[in-house]
Amino acid sequence: MSLLDLLVARITAQGPITVAEYMADCLLHPAFGYYATRDPLGAEGDFITAPEISQIFGELLGLGLAQSWVAQGRPQRIILAEAGPGRGTLMADALRAARAVPGFVEAAQLVLLEASPTLRTPQADMLGGYAPHWIESLGDLPDDAPLFFIANEFFDALPIRQFQRDGRMWRERQVGVAGDALRFGLGPAQPQPALAHRLDDTTDGDLIEHCSALAPAIDAIGQRIAVHGGAALIVDYGDWRSLGDTLQALRDHKPVDPLKTPGAADLTAHVDFEAIAQAAPCAHTRLTTQGVFLERLGITHRARSLAQHLTGNPLDNLIAAHRRLTHPEEMGNLFKVIGLFPEGQAPPPGLDI
Ligand code: SAH
Repeated sequence: MSLLDLLVARITAQGPITVAEYMADCLLHPAFGYYATRDPLGAEGDFITAPEISQIFGELLGLGLAQSWVAQGRPQRIILAEAGPGRGTLMADALRAARAVPGFVEAAQLVLLEASPTLRTPQADMLGGYAPHWIESLGDLPDDAPLFFIANEFFDALPIRQFQRDGRMWRERQVGVAGDALRFGLGPAQPQPALAHRLDDTTDGDLIEHCSALAPAIDAIGQRIAVHGGAALIVDYGDWRSLGDTLQALRDHKPVDPLKTPGAADLTAHVDFEAIAQAAPCAHTRLTTQGVFLERLGITHRARSLAQHLTGNPLDNLIAAHRRLTHPEEMGNLFKVIGLFPEGQAPPPGLDI
């Protein structure tokens, strides 16, 4: 039995499923889900992320949050949280660097949102010294202290629904069955009041995406920041409002057909940062590219200082990592950053309003 067999049997019996239902099963099915069953990160995995490319990424984000903590009067007890911590690398680098800011690490209670039992193991190994506490949903974040929050490549894993415009109505893209394979199809044309604002910037036949888990997630984070203080740094690939099909499957660092090998390839979609800004019940920054953000935080300065101790291959790797994270043709422009912060306070370093 594979996830493909299971989905074909279920769809044959019960009818087509939405793209969101398909994504959720592919990523998080307890027995066959992509994240539920493996560690997908790194050179031997299917994709590589910024913190796995260079320690500088996590260091700069950690120092950025610590700087916001200082600007907000060094609260004595804070929640330091990460959603989708992968191997725990980003948070480990962030905490190590933030030791340079006296009191920050001591004030922090570490909370991790992780759906994958497989990935909780490396997270426990990497971060065990900080006594992390795992939660199941952002609604479970403690709500009694300032929240300092990081997410890198978490929101792109949240399931999206896709709708194709048909006059002033929408047809939902679905996953159905043809023989023993999966196939995309379209549901009946229906009005979608939640998509009314997209009638202004689309024409017949355009495809748009909607992530229904996004607004509640941002609301849970933003409410805590609005009430208790703190800051959030959200890094992902995507843009201000999305248009077109951005569902992407990656296997062994290469794009593959998203319907071919359910559960064995990573599935993501571009993050709609406008939807994040609209859902935020606190202040938000302007959207900034990852390259500009990291430059403003001093990535080149930090890379130079690390380079002083290196020669040969390690030095070449460092130079390549710096380029990969910042260059407009690599991750520099594709990845974006938005910050959340309390009204009336300074935005997180590297971001502006
Ligand atoms: N932030 C890490 C890992 C990114 S991969 C890095 O930059 O390297 C996506 C992460 O989000 C993984 O840890 C995955 O298990 C987790 N994840 C995906 N969907 C999730 C969900 N719905 N709830 C909680 N964690 C989720």
